[in-house]
Order: sequence, then C-alpha cells, then structure tokens
Amino acid sequence: MYEFAVTPAVTQLRRAGVIITEVAPESLAEELGLETGDRIVKVNGRSVRDYLDFRFQTAGETEFDFLVKKTNGETWDIELEREEGEDFGLMFEQIVPRQCANECLFCFCKGNPEDARPSLFVRDEDIRLSFLYGNYTTLSSITDDEMKRIVEQRLSPQYVSVHATDLKTRAYLLGVDEKRADIFDKLNFLLDNGIEIHAQIVLCPEINDGAQLEKTLRDLASHYPRIVSAAIVPVALTRYNTDERLTKVTPEFCRRTIKEVEKLQKEFRKNLGVTFAFLGDEIYLKGGMEIPSRRHYGNYPQIEDGVGMIRSFLNSFGKLIKKVQSPKSEVQSLAIENVRTHKLAIKPKNKTQNSGLKTQDSLFGTILTGEMFAPILSEQVEKLNAVSGSKLKVLAVPNTYFGGDVSVAGLLTGQDFVAVKDKIEGDFVIIPKHTIKSDEPILLDGMQFDDLKKQFPVPIYNLDIQEFIEMILAEN
Ligand code: SF4
Repeated sequence: MYEFAVTPAVTQLRRAGVIITEVAPESLAEELGLETGDRIVKVNGRSVRDYLDFRFQTAGETEFDFLVKKTNGETWDIELEREEGEDFGLMFEQIVPRQCANECLFCFCKGNPEDARPSLFVRDEDIRLSFLYGNYTTLSSITDDEMKRIVEQRLSPQYVSVHATDLKTRAYLLGVDEKRADIFDKLNFLLDNGIEIHAQIVLCPEINDGAQLEKTLRDLASHYPRIVSAAIVPVALTRYNTDERLTKVTPEFCRRTIKEVEKLQKEFRKNLGVTFAFLGDEIYLKGGMEIPSRRHYGNYPQIEDGVGMIRSFLNSFGKLIKKVQSPKSEVQSLAIENVRTHKLAIKPKNKTQNSGLKTQDSLFGTILTGEMFAPILSEQVEKLNAVSGSKLKVLAVPNTYFGGDVSVAGLLTGQDFVAVKDKIEGDFVIIPKHTIKSDEPILLDGMQFDDLKKQFPVPIYNLDIQEFIEMILAEN
C-alpha cells in the first residue's frame, strides 16, 4: 500500500551517504563546520545509507571518525569526541522508499485516477518505513542484506502483509510466482532472531476469506507472541479499480466475517490470553454491527490500520463529555493511544499546524468527515452540544474523487471538500488531519491546503481527534 506520509520515491541513482538538512545553532555539528547539504558518507569506516544507519552507527559511541562530502566537492575526514548522550544537532533527509516488485490484485495504486499526482503511485515496500511508520511490506522481494539489517539494527517491530498463508492464494493475491510469495523461511528467520511481527490481511471476498482466513489466522496465531497481532482489513475498491477478479465487500459479507472471526477470537483469548486477530473498524461499520469493547483491542496494536480507532475515539469522546459535564471532576488522560508512532521516527515538520482556534468565542462550526464515520461522530457531537452549549455540526462528505466504496475520512480530497462548501455552517470548518500530507500542505488530489482555504468563507483547521478534543477542552 502506498503511504501518504513519506517523501515520494525518486528513481534516480542516489549518491552514497545521508544528506544533512539542518544543523542546529551552537550544536556540536556546527562547531565541526558541518552544513546543510553536506553528505555524511561513513562513520568509523562504515558506510551510511540513511539516517537510521547514522543513528545505529553513532548510538552509544563517544569517539568518531566522520567521512563527509562537502557541498563544494571537498572531502573532510573529521575526528571528534562527544560527551555521552550529547546530541550532534543534525537533521537528515527523509528515507526514499524502496519500491515493491508485486502486482497485487487490490493494489491501491490501481484505484487512482490516471491524473493523480505521482506520489500516489508510489509502491513502497521498505522495511525501514515499516519499522519507523508501521508501513506494511510483503517481504516478497526483501534481500538478504535487508533481512540482516533488520536483525542487526533491531528494526522491530515489522509490519507484514501476509494476506494468506496458503501459498497459492498468496501468490495469486500478490501477482507473483509461488517461489517469491513464499516468506515462510524469512518470517522464521526474523522471529527466531527476536523481531516482532504484526501481520495484515487485506480481505478479498471469495479469495482469502472463509476457510482461507481461518487457516491464515490459525497459522499466524501459532507463532504468538512472536507474531503479536493480525489485522484484517477489507479490500477498498475505487471506481477505477475494475478488476473482475475482485468482489465488492457487502454488509452481508461483513456480518458473516465478523461471525466467523468472533469464534476464532474467543478461542485465541482462551488459549493465548489475547484477541490476537482484529477486524478493521470498517467491517463493523459496513456490517452495521457494534464496535467491540475497549478490552477487545488490548493495547490497540494496529490502530493506524483502522483497527480500534472508533473504539478509541468513542472512549476518548465519552471521557470528554463527562469532563465537560462536570468540569471539576478529575479526568486522568484523554490521550488516544497510538502505539504505532515509534519513538525513533523522525517526524517531518508539520507545516500545516494551525493555531488560534481557541480564541473563537463560541464553538459554532462544521466538522467534515467521511460518510462512514459521520453517523458515529454526529451522535457524539450531538451529545457534546447538549452538555456544552456548542453548536457543532457534522457533515458527511461523499468521496467523488476515488468513488466506488471509498468512504473513509482519510481519503477525502480537496475537491470533495469544495463540493460541500455551501452546506457548511458556523464560524469555522474542521477537516480530518490526515487528509493533508504530513510533510507538505497538500491534499490527495494535489490541491494545496492554502488554495482550499481560499475557497471557504471561514477558516479551515485540519485536526485529529486528540487536537479536536483539546480544542473543546480549551473552550470549557
Ligand atoms: S503492489 Fe501490493 S505490495 Fe506493492 S504497493 Fe501495491 S499493494 Fe503494496
């Protein structure tokens, strides 16, 4: 699957080393004469391919020999010492994703409009991004060096798209031959070396559901706790993905799958002590079934894959309403757990950050979200309006850009928002944070966030649920 939060891939040959993008003032790096644009090629004689290598090769060390290619073409050999734990004061270029070599039946890239911006066609398959951001890889084209690197640098956990443990089915889904689809030895190598795995299954009706799904989940669960969890998310078909081998996910299919998986979940909870296999929120919503309890999700191991997000939201929002109702009551924390944000991830600067919403006199505005989440959000917001006096309105935005059965909030585009601009009410509009690229103020259809703002008569804020809750609390 493509990942919206990483730098688009480039195909040109890359020069050795990692490029410095920022040198902190008065830092050790500045003292050494390092500058933006310089490339660190080696640390203590070992090649540096990216900032993960740099971190790994400098961790715990106090004496270094840096080989640096300066922007003016000079090569510097710098010997230095630092205090234990002293920061260099360096920021580096982001990792350029490695591309996958699959032809997955359901690949989202096939569901893009032809004129979609190039970064939407990036097929990343990168174990570094899996570790840093929780992107899934299939391991089908991973090299021996990459396998060794995962183990040597402890790039754990890894998120792996398994889809099916039956080799024929997996090969069919990935569009590769069985030899390439076979990751049994690779998985075992990682597991034997203490690397934790979170598995994903993109559920395609009539291909890897039913008995196939049961086999896959049982096979994966047999490796628990080394395979920590399995997420089952439904295939998403846009109006452009018209492959006849794919069948639409219907409400009836969702209900049947929930029933089947519930039996296994019960068994896993009894034998393993955890639910282990989690169905994506979308399956419950489409099936019109109740979202499982907080306990069901444990520590939300795959929340960023849309597994448990709704439960997490409902619980956080429930606490918020209580807090607003009785301002003096002690509310421990409204923080939404998000275990996939790895502490080692270097997050790009958020250029889309907004401020100033707190200064609104009243909370009278419109929240735009996807059609799937809108009824749930609307119900909660009405409760909030009733207790807080706010006048918030939730507006379900149809996804006309991708079409098909795409109705999640995160895939809404600039033109989808513009299409409902005449229906907004109040002093401001809130759009889902993840509809804006994390390192650039641009939406999925290529519209600049600033251009979107110009089309609305009131300010637009891109907030996630946590920020939205903080905004409400600031007002009460
Ligand atoms: S082809 Fe498969 S592995 Fe590659 S990006 Fe698409 S879905 Fe992911």
